[in-house]
Amino acid sequence: MQLKVFKFGGASVKDAEGFINVGRILKKFSEDKIVIVVSATGKTTNALEELVKSYYDNDGKKASLLEQIKLNHISLIQQLFPVSNDVMDDINDTFVEIEWILEDSPHEDYDYTYDQIVSIGELLSSKILSHYLNYLNIANEWLDVRNVILTDNTFRDARIQWDTTQKNAVAKILPLLDKVNHVVTQGFIGSTSENFTTTLGREGSDYTAAILSFCLDADSMHIWKDVPGVLTGDPRIFDEVIKLPRLSYKEAIEMTYYGAKVIHPKTIKPLQNKQIPLYVRPFLEPGSEGTVISDEKELSYPPVIVIEPDQTLLHISTNDFSFVAEHHLSMIFALLAKYRLKVNMMRNTAISFTVCVNNIPDRIRKFEKELGTEFKMVTDNDLELVTIRHFNEDVLKDMKKNKLILFEEKLQDTVQMVVRNLPKMKRKELQ
Ligand code: ADP
Ligand code: ASP
Ligand code: MG
Repeated sequence: MQLKVFKFGGASVKDAEGFINVGRILKKFSEDKIVIVVSATGKTTNALEELVKSYYDNDGKKASLLEQIKLNHISLIQQLFPVSNDVMDDINDTFVEIEWILEDSPHEDYDYTYDQIVSIGELLSSKILSHYLNYLNIANEWLDVRNVILTDNTFRDARIQWDTTQKNAVAKILPLLDKVNHVVTQGFIGSTSENFTTTLGREGSDYTAAILSFCLDADSMHIWKDVPGVLTGDPRIFDEVIKLPRLSYKEAIEMTYYGAKVIHPKTIKPLQNKQIPLYVRPFLEPGSEGTVISDEKELSYPPVIVIEPDQTLLHISTNDFSFVAEHHLSMIFALLAKYRLKVNMMRNTAISFTVCVNNIPDRIRKFEKELGTEFKMVTDNDLELVTIRHFNEDVLKDMKKNKLILFEEKLQDTVQMVVRNLPKMKRKELQ
């Protein structure tokens, strides 16, 4: 059986027009066996995050925040369906789950509660999509992916228990695909062995699609996007970007590891292990192949720029100005791992050790606290990490304009810099 896995992100289902377009795409593939993984609509995950924060802050806004999320979904349903459709009951039942949580006082573990509430976004969108496909006579089965994807209990960043997930996927998804051609399910979420919902980290729906592709030995995976494919830079930042028609798994892993927002970094490896090609395709042009990521070997690439904003440098030194020695470093790394602070760049000098991490203030605060009095830590905020793959001198010069370079490292085909953007200096008018 040929099997495809499709993933539609929040941008593809941000409004009724988006759902209509998904229906249009799936009509073209009605003969194919497809597992469809869908994210929460548009900015729903951000809105649910705000709701969790408001619940914990007890700022009196939780009811109105929830109401707005409800209204958005109701309006979507009203635009997609004729007057009576049982989708509304299904959606109302899903909201009741959040209402129950919000009635109680907050659980001591913020991340646990976050996952129970934020995961609702994907349940809502997948239910709406499944009902909508039925309405279009595209037969499908809705699947609760929490019955398939088993994780540990690292809430907000759960790790997959691969063996059980694989068994579940085969036992629960393949029989559905014997009945109908399309299975609709959620990205981003999973479940612990005690049946608590977990999430896989922001933007994790791509990863879900890769997990399912791996476990089901899919023939190909397709991510439908609001861009023509993988581009040489983020089109929101750069004007002159071009599409990369083909990429190797290795190149895609490098790009996403350094922060290219187009695919979640954990997505590629499971696909590479089983040699499953990944197509990053434009949802507005379903005929186009977009970018094909596969086991290509000898491709040459133009310069590719990846910008990771909101970086912080942590300068760590010993309080008695002794050297930062190996035993200090091993302790520092253990703490970085404990607080899940990913090291984007680092440098060790005689009396200080500097790391560049994503600015996640509460984790950095806890990390600093646990470093203790033996160390002194100074932070530098509002920085960017610029990575240029396959650089040339012109691109490098251009990228350094109006920037203060705090760190720079050149490898064979990659330059990385931690930079501060300088305000453009304006010449004073002469009197
Ligand atoms: P989705 O909701 O489908 O997951 P996202 O908004 O998360 O979509 O990701 C798509 C966006 O990624 C694009 O709109 C684009 O602005 C951005 N992006 C960043 N880097 C790249 C790149 N190298 N190539 C293509 N798109 C990129
Ligand atoms: N809805 C989740 C998020 O916005 C997961 C995803 O879209 O991939 O992060
Ligand atoms: Mg996304």
